[in-house]
Amino acid sequence: MEDCMESFSECLFCKIVKGEIPSQKVFENETVLAFRDINPQAPIHILIIPKRHLESILEINEQDTPLFASIFAAIKQIVAKEGIAERGFRIALNNGPEGGQLIKHLHFHLLGGRQMIGRLG
Ligand code: AMP
Ligand code: ZN
Repeated sequence: MEDCMESFSECLFCKIVKGEIPSQKVFENETVLAFRDINPQAPIHILIIPKRHLESILEINEQDTPLFASIFAAIKQIVAKEGIAERGFRIALNNGPEGGQLIKHLHFHLLGGRQMIGRLG
């Protein structure tokens, strides 16, 4: 448990939620935060995260349904504001080592503003 607590306090995205590390916020409500990726892979590259520390999809359970509804509602608002709702965009979630997840705080990538190349993988 101590290890667990320690890793929360060290979590980069938890620090962003707490305002200990600056970020370019584009959306915030009680449970969700969205901010621009520091190393954008597209003209629009935004990360959408639950404010509560969840490491991965494996930690989600049924009680989290409202949280994920809120995340998708946030995405809808963000794409409208960024002007890419109709043009289209890609949502990606890297989960676990082979999924390419570097930051162990669950996050959705929103990529847009250019044609996405390839389909998946
Ligand atoms: P992933 O590989 O899915 O874990 O993605 C982590 C993402 O976090 C990468 O796209 C990084 O560029 C991004 N990132 C890392 N540090 C920061 C930061 N301080 N602010 C914003 N984005 C960050
Ligand atoms: Zn965290």
